[in-house]
Amino acid sequence: MADRKYQRPDFEYLKTAKFRLFVGQKNNVNFVPEFYIDFMAKIKKIGVLTSGGDSPGMNAAIRGVTRTAIYNGLEVIGIRHGYQGMIDANFSPLYSHSVSDIIQRGGTILKTARCEEFRTPEGRQKAYNNLKEAQIDGVVVIGGDGSFTGARLFNEEFDIPFVGIPGTIDNDIYGTDYTIGYDTALNTVVEAIDKIRDTASAHNRMFFVEVMGAEAGFIALYSGIATGAEAIIIPELKGEERNLKAMIETGNSRKKSSNIIIVAEGDEGGGAFAIAEKLKDDFREYDIRVSVLGHLQRGGSPSAMDRVNASRLGHAAVEALIDDQKSVMVGISNGEITLVPFRKAVKLHKDVNHNLVDLAKILSV
Ligand code: ATP
Repeated sequence: MADRKYQRPDFEYLKTAKFRLFVGQKNNVNFVPEFYIDFMAKIKKIGVLTSGGDSPGMNAAIRGVTRTAIYNGLEVIGIRHGYQGMIDANFSPLYSHSVSDIIQRGGTILKTARCEEFRTPEGRQKAYNNLKEAQIDGVVVIGGDGSFTGARLFNEEFDIPFVGIPGTIDNDIYGTDYTIGYDTALNTVVEAIDKIRDTASAHNRMFFVEVMGAEAGFIALYSGIATGAEAIIIPELKGEERNLKAMIETGNSRKKSSNIIIVAEGDEGGGAFAIAEKLKDDFREYDIRVSVLGHLQRGGSPSAMDRVNASRLGHAAVEALIDDQKSVMVGISNGEITLVPFRKAVKLHKDVNHNLVDLAKILSV
């Protein structure tokens, strides 16, 4: 990696009359004394927090933020309990050793919270006063679209820049192919459904498995393809429940010994229990069971993919703050780091890939 200290501030600018005493060339390399770079740097101390629902890999992101900041000579402050911690000034310094031995842990060492007070201008004013008092020059927010909405409003009102890292198992944030925790949650679900399949086949059972994703069917769709589910019910596909009977009957004609139907929570049909209840009279030959996977999907040691991507995003978020960015989310698109304005990330809807919906249907015949 190039040494940032010799890339900024802009060398040509520093050569102007006002600043020329500080700069020069040494062995044909542009030279700016370190004390002057420190003096000029806008960002000297950053805060980091996790907000909204937790997701595996948030700790790896906190580590990425902390170590990148320290590498760049910045101080780091951990803000505990999300935006509530900003309002209560629940701040403590993070050092390199503070983030040792956390990359493999689920949850978040900074704790997370939902904070009603931050939704009010008065709450955000309190948060600003506390950040100013602690001399925090920029903040990295690791969270979902609600957290980014709060961050966007704050940046419209106040001069402390916020940069976001997408952290949610739902993978539903526009502008990034990937959100921290999704890969781990998906693998947890696949492992659970494989186990359910074993017992379902042994007893000729039909299982309705409810997975997380109240407004987004990414976990349901991908886990459905990965486990060979007979049907997948997701919020993005309206009316799919009506086709369910026909889909299962097609499978029955092939004498399938088990049926797994994956239902994203909060689906228009009312969740796995409600759908199972409606179908039980049509399939009396099956012993129908419902399994709601629930919060186990949020926990566990993050996958290698989540750890690597969280590390990349943590690093990118600090670089963005140093580069004077604000009100943006760092994301990963086609393998590359991207910057997406909060406004876009929150407003635009990320749809599931409909080719994959078709694929799931073809492969379940
Ligand atoms: P997840 O996707 O896991 O639910 P999230 O970040 O979307 O994560 P939310 O509960 O929606 O989770 O939001 C987290 C916090 O962000 C809220 O508790 C609140 O403090 C802040 N927030 C959300 N929406 C707003 C808003 N409209 N204005 C100000 N702050 C907001």
